[in-house]
Amino acid sequence: MRQLYIGGSWTASASGEPIEVVNPATEEIIDRVPAGSPDDVETAVRAARQAFPAWSETAAAERGKILGEAAELLRQRSDEIAKTIATDMGSPLGFALKVQALMPATVLSSYAQLAESHPRESRVGNSLVVKEPIGVVAAITPWNYPLHQIVCKVGPALAAGCTVVLKPSEIAPLAAYALAEIFHEVGLPPGAFNLVSGRGPVVGEAMAAHPEVDMVSFTGSTAAGRRVASLAAESVKRVALELGGKSANIILPDADLATAVKVGVANCFVNAGQTCSAWTRMIVHRDQYDAAVRLAVEATGKYTVGDPFDESTRIGPLVSAVQRDRVIRYINRGQEEGARLVAGGTDRPHERGYYVEPTVFAGVEPGMAIEQEEIFGPVLSMIPYTSEDMAVQIANGTRYGLAGAVWAGTEEHAVAVARRLRTGQVAINGGKFNPRAPFGGYKQSGVGRELGEHGLEEYLEIKSLQL
Ligand code: NAD
Repeated sequence: MRQLYIGGSWTASASGEPIEVVNPATEEIIDRVPAGSPDDVETAVRAARQAFPAWSETAAAERGKILGEAAELLRQRSDEIAKTIATDMGSPLGFALKVQALMPATVLSSYAQLAESHPRESRVGNSLVVKEPIGVVAAITPWNYPLHQIVCKVGPALAAGCTVVLKPSEIAPLAAYALAEIFHEVGLPPGAFNLVSGRGPVVGEAMAAHPEVDMVSFTGSTAAGRRVASLAAESVKRVALELGGKSANIILPDADLATAVKVGVANCFVNAGQTCSAWTRMIVHRDQYDAAVRLAVEATGKYTVGDPFDESTRIGPLVSAVQRDRVIRYINRGQEEGARLVAGGTDRPHERGYYVEPTVFAGVEPGMAIEQEEIFGPVLSMIPYTSEDMAVQIANGTRYGLAGAVWAGTEEHAVAVARRLRTGQVAINGGKFNPRAPFGGYKQSGVGRELGEHGLEEYLEIKSLQL
């Protein structure tokens, strides 16, 4: 069994209990990590608290240098990390390398730079306004982009001068261990970063409730985020939440339909649909609807489902049996509600492994469960509209607001519609993901922003000195 990383050393968990890590493609146990306990959280928070004064006062250039070295080691170990994530989470290897392993290296190196370049002081009249690290940060992360989501918190927190206790997802925890090894190797001071693996209701809740934690940054489901926020409220700590989504892809009549549908399908199915910002609702004008459905079905036929290590695979298994069963339930529910299954369905593509067919529903109406709820699998809902106002209303008609897309004949037209969307990110005519642009949710998709300067600001307190 692996160990916890606390105060700069690898230590056994007080619980002595393991959590088994399963390869979702083979259903075999591949590793064991400690099921951390509240006592482990206590030890880790104490270590982070002790390390805070020195790390927060370390020169920004020095903090940046250490983070830059860590980013470089992440890059050097990217092949191995990609294999780890392909194995414990099921991402196809090519995607695992490019996105799951290398994007965190890019994000960490951007925070290495921002540690020094982000301005910490400004003047307002007779006041000097200074920004200071908030203190001890509890970071709780999910399994779908297991390393990226960790780095989106740990990178800015350490760059700001905070110290961190991390609880990675118990379902895909292995990349977090590589990061801890890297921080150790580059000489991050003991206690600045601590890793306590374990279950949400035990370790996560102890972290969120701990009075010596100044801020909790959570990524995961809206239900667990709500619980974390309510526990954190007892000690009035800052809370950042990155939660679920049901993002809309609006295709306007003057757009290039074939491209918009093709890219839209790809975005919905990326990482087997286990992407919080996936465009899971394709909103198409009634006049183009049948053509769009045909194009979507055709595109879906090209998505080979299989072993993450096979080069032809575009969709790997879902992360767990629980996740697979949940997605299957939604596919059944969509049919019961009267939506038309035009691709995929509930058949198992392979006997072993938690695989699901990429699935497309036509005839989806606003208000259906498959239109409102986050499925977190490769399931696309296609919804017709008859006016631009109606398209915007459908797009804004869920409790979520994380991402989305607008396709139009001109950038101006797409931007005008995007401005009306109550959501944190919008891709204009397929605009590429930008790892330095703020990412986060409106409504129940979350509170706060990650990435870039906005992500760093989350970890800073503000003090005014009247001169
Ligand atoms: P989850 O909420 O089950 O778990 C996320 C993390 O929270 C895990 O580490 C888990 O152990 C912990 N946790 C669970 N219950 C907890 C509790 N009561 N107290 C404290 N911690 C608890 O989510 P998941 O299944 O791992 O991930 C999928 C969800 O994450 C989806 O809803 C997805 O949309 C969301 N997500 C959001 C973003 C974003 O940036 N907005 C990114 C990725 C995933």
